Amino acid sequence: MARIAFLGLGNMGGPMAANLAKAGHDVLAYDLNEAARARAVEAGARAAAGVGEAAADVEAVVSMLPAGAHVKEAYLGPKGVLATARQGALLIDCSTIDVATAREVGAAAGEAGFQMIDAPVSGGVSAAAAGTLTFMVGGESDAFARAAPILENMGKNVFHAGAAGNGQAAKIANNMLLAISMIGTCEAFNLAEKLGLDAETFFDISSTASGQCWSMTSYCPAPGPVPAAPSNRDYQPGFAAAMMLKDLRLAQDAARAAKAPTPLGAQAEMLYALMEASGDDGLDFSGVMKLIRGDL
Ligand code: NAD
Repeated sequence: MARIAFLGLGNMGGPMAANLAKAGHDVLAYDLNEAARARAVEAGARAAAGVGEAAADVEAVVSMLPAGAHVKEAYLGPKGVLATARQGALLIDCSTIDVATAREVGAAAGEAGFQMIDAPVSGGVSAAAAGTLTFMVGGESDAFARAAPILENMGKNVFHAGAAGNGQAAKIANNMLLAISMIGTCEAFNLAEKLGLDAETFFDISSTASGQCWSMTSYCPAPGPVPAAPSNRDYQPGFAAAMMLKDLRLAQDAARAAKAPTPLGAQAEMLYALMEASGDDGLDFSGVMKLIRGDL
């Protein structure tokens, strides 16, 4: 078992750190928020007083922070990970951040003699608690091989997506596709309903025809056909529209930088931005059905 620093003990990082402790690792947990540190201690971790104290004497550092600026500060800051961790420590950032920052921090880690991977996750808070996250990893193969046994304590699928930043690229490309397919599914159910088909009938037909997709069969945005879907509990998340909008904005930034045309991704960003503007972005992302129906 390893000694592991865990930085960022929020909705996702809290249960992930708890699963590392449950697996028998010695977890040194740090968050700016004192209550989050106290919860980590209850879950079997030891609290650290700062990033430097957490990272100073560990075999691996795992971080789960809100955005690129927080990751930069935690790794590159004067008392950050690169300045304080001992040589040989493996650095694993699980936050969802922009590809450019992931590559910049990964390169700085490499120059300082550390192996670092970006390992964003798919799956929300319940998957974090259950230890069933999917990790998409960017970084060198031997760093991936070192990280996989640690990530397997927190998830059920661990994929190597290629070089540094590719984990983030896989995550935002996948979520852009999910948003587009969700919006298309909403439009199709709304159109079918307006033309006289009830949701169950349209689901029975389209789920076995060429319109079939995950957004329909696992997460149907029209209430009824998929009982476990958030549409049956007035679109309580789930995966909040605000989180989807964050990922779509990252995807658009990356698409502009890469000169990759994403006209539907751009539209998807705008539709979720409308949910944000009306204060409805706390709904599940399938709640875009309400926008399409004119119910927001
Ligand atoms: P959160 O806001 O609940 O937690 C982030 C934590 O980081 C907070 O507790 C905050 O105090 C802490 N923090 C910020 N700066 C810090 C620093 N310098 N040092 C130590 N701690 C610091 O966010 P979350 O929902 O846990 O999400 C974390 C990441 O996971 C985000 O990048 C998010 O996009 C991604 N993600 C979230 C979900 C989800 O469903 N919540 C799903 C997949 C991916």
